[in-house]
Amino acid sequence: MAEIRSTCCYCGVGCGVVITHDQGHITAVRGDPDHPANFGRLCGKGLSLHETVTGHGRALYPELRRQRGAARKRVSWDEALDHVAQRFAETIRQHGPDSVAFYISGQLLTEDYYAFNKLARALVGTNNIDSNSRLCMSSAVAGYKATLGADAPPTCYEDIDHADCILIAGSNAAWAHPVLFRRIEDAKAKNPDLKIIVVDPRRTATAEIADLHLAIEPGTDVALFHGLLNAMLHEGLTRPDYIAAHTEGWAALETLARDYAPETAAELCGISSDQLLTAARWFGTAKATLSLYCMGLNQSAAGTDKNAALINLHLATGHIGRAGAGPFSLTGQPNAMGGRETGSMANLLIGHRDLASDADRAEVAQLWHVPSIPARPGKTAVEMFEAIRSGQIKAVWIACTNPAQSLPDQIAVREALAAAELVVLQETYADTETAPYADVLLPAAGWGEKEGTVTNSERRISRVRAAIAAPGEARPDWQIVCDAAMRIERELKGSVSPLFNFDSPRRIFDEYRGLTRGRNTDISGLDYTTLEMIGPQQWPYREGATHGKQRLYGDGRFPTTSGHARFAAVPYRAVAESTDARFPLHLNTGRLRDQWHGMTRSGRVARLWGHAPEPAVALNPADLAQHGLKAGDIVQLQSRRGTLRVVAEVDGSVAPGQAFLPMHWGSRHLAGNGINTLTLPVIDPKSFQPELKHCAISVSKAELPWRLIAFGTPRDSDALALLARAQAWLPQFEFAVCALTPEAGGVLLRAAATQAPSDDVLAALHALFELDGNDVMRYDDRHRGNVRRVRLNAGRVAAVCLSGDGTGESWLREFHGQGLPAAALGAMLLAPTAKAPGGAAARGRIVCSCFGIGETAINSALRSAGGDAANRVAAAQQQLRCGTQCGSCLPELRRLAASAVMAA
Ligand code: SF4
Repeated sequence: MAEIRSTCCYCGVGCGVVITHDQGHITAVRGDPDHPANFGRLCGKGLSLHETVTGHGRALYPELRRQRGAARKRVSWDEALDHVAQRFAETIRQHGPDSVAFYISGQLLTEDYYAFNKLARALVGTNNIDSNSRLCMSSAVAGYKATLGADAPPTCYEDIDHADCILIAGSNAAWAHPVLFRRIEDAKAKNPDLKIIVVDPRRTATAEIADLHLAIEPGTDVALFHGLLNAMLHEGLTRPDYIAAHTEGWAALETLARDYAPETAAELCGISSDQLLTAARWFGTAKATLSLYCMGLNQSAAGTDKNAALINLHLATGHIGRAGAGPFSLTGQPNAMGGRETGSMANLLIGHRDLASDADRAEVAQLWHVPSIPARPGKTAVEMFEAIRSGQIKAVWIACTNPAQSLPDQIAVREALAAAELVVLQETYADTETAPYADVLLPAAGWGEKEGTVTNSERRISRVRAAIAAPGEARPDWQIVCDAAMRIERELKGSVSPLFNFDSPRRIFDEYRGLTRGRNTDISGLDYTTLEMIGPQQWPYREGATHGKQRLYGDGRFPTTSGHARFAAVPYRAVAESTDARFPLHLNTGRLRDQWHGMTRSGRVARLWGHAPEPAVALNPADLAQHGLKAGDIVQLQSRRGTLRVVAEVDGSVAPGQAFLPMHWGSRHLAGNGINTLTLPVIDPKSFQPELKHCAISVSKAELPWRLIAFGTPRDSDALALLARAQAWLPQFEFAVCALTPEAGGVLLRAAATQAPSDDVLAALHALFELDGNDVMRYDDRHRGNVRRVRLNAGRVAAVCLSGDGTGESWLREFHGQGLPAAALGAMLLAPTAKAPGGAAARGRIVCSCFGIGETAINSALRSAGGDAANRVAAAQQQLRCGTQCGSCLPELRRLAASAVMAA
């Protein structure tokens, strides 16, 4: 066994990991105690990374189909890349460089990004290169540039320890950035006087730690921030000296802010003016106020304005450029920052240069030794897929992202993918929602198999290292791009220049850092050797430096023409899609604690399914009642773009008139086109980011009386292969979900329909779950429509299929999940009874994924412990170990403990 240091590939916290491997397999992952982002901590996703590397679903070989409708066939790398090169060159020759596009990802490494960017701009001559970071970070980019003059978070994680007021806006950091949230919890524990304000329409796990929760109406953030400014002005909490010395545009903002008196703003936001005034006082009087914000501000048609209006507050109060103070945008993806730094988005240019600037484009062209960089703006993500749908873009190269799950308005996106003349998909996994649309599949090395660098939210560049070789014929992304680029160049120009003559990611990084010299992202002094010797470093790191720059703008000078930061006088605009009588609910989408994006990676880890096994729409009890629904009902959600069926759950943390859906479910785990069937493709005019966070929907009960639940552990133990076979059944039903079961290595398929399917379908499903042999217990009540099958293995429940009314599901799942002895129950296992004959206690929802501890045991431990909430949590931790490994469940433990105290 050997160990190697690398970086977690999930979120933008950028935790350092230590990978244990035996050269051929990655066997474990632990937090790197020396990495300054996490000091040894990891969340549940990071801790299970080793379980995502191998197994069914990996893309292993290049595949190609020459004609639409045909099946893809395995081919050699030469054949695949020659085909890509010929088709791209042919398209460019016939229709011009803007007839092709590259849609890449915030999960790529900086070196991969650089290679793609050079291919698009220096060789092909198009700015049609955009990243899925458009969906999460582009409003933060535009907000920073509009106010501070450059896309650079001025803060660092250590600021959490120095702040005495933290405002968290539009971020459920407890779930989306768990290790960072542990740091906020620590800061609060060390300094009980630390004031935490959480701005979120939902009472999230993050809001549980808040001293003040501002549950604003969806999309009213700008009104809130202007209202806070108005209150600060009236109470003398702004810093006229800082405003005069370091900013411009104050007069216009001051005038605008007069329209947002506390009462007016509070009414727009649906909060009390007392709450608003309290927030203004805490923000304004603190010695150091830090703002942390994320998708709630960014994923909006007014995302840039929301970012800018919050940054206004920091500039007006001088809370910037000091320890503990500043506006800190949290990045969703592990290398969204790297994409921004390398300019790998349609409206950016490398090293934070300006695409619209003739001088900046000429400088990049000169550094790349090419005649020019195209001036025509490229298509951003939503625009790109619209152009593909209309035929304007004919060939698209998609890398490391899954647009058939993640883009809004899925029906239109899938029409675009189907209409494209050529779809090249460069992917680690061959089973994504986008994969069926690919004409060419290029297998890419994944995490643990490739080398490079990433930049986290605090501008810190870390090394990503390979522990093992990639499986099959998969190759690192940078290598695929460079190899294809040389072939495209030969096709277009008849010869190959040294443009893509890279033999390692280190060489790419060296060329890239040369292009940052003199820029605000200057890392001319940072190379792989330095990173090896002194560890991860923040940019800028100029030549001759001995360490990166922890904070920016301490001298009050900003990278604008005047050197002054700019206030943004932006009026409040309501959400892009309003509710009405037909679509009366505000739908909010967001992350769950244990899943990541479209579940391509996290969905392969059984224990990450325990916390939220199936997708559900969370509704306030009042809305459930108003629509004649109860928890557990299958409901139809409808927006102006499409419909979706999911289960309804009751959730008091969601305000009346609102609904919440997790963003993760696509068509691989849910019948239909996934959550983004509903979402809105309207984009922010400044950042081009779509309003994924909000749209208007209706909810109604789906009358689907026939139910099926099948679950089981496959005899060959390959749950991922069984899951893939189960997924193929999803389109057959009006409602269906499938999942890994967090215990017993199993798979679950739940379906519902207006009427029972044919006997052939049932027989096929029985065969799928290996419920068709002689060892299977059978019960057929054709009169009532109940058909039941149970298979035991060594006296334990191994597989079950209940079709009809599904009675007995819960206790049979407990027997399966807990591995309880069942042989003695005999025919009782087939009885359609709601109560367990053997008295199996339900574990409830899994709260602690690390140790598989359910809500029932936790509630029992909390109730019997006595004392205050902290005592009860400590007792449960000692008794059950829950919350003692990654800590991601601590907010939930504290909530349950508070309920136990109330009930005592
Ligand atoms: Fe990975 Fe979790 Fe750290 Fe994010 S917080 S980088 S998901 S371990």
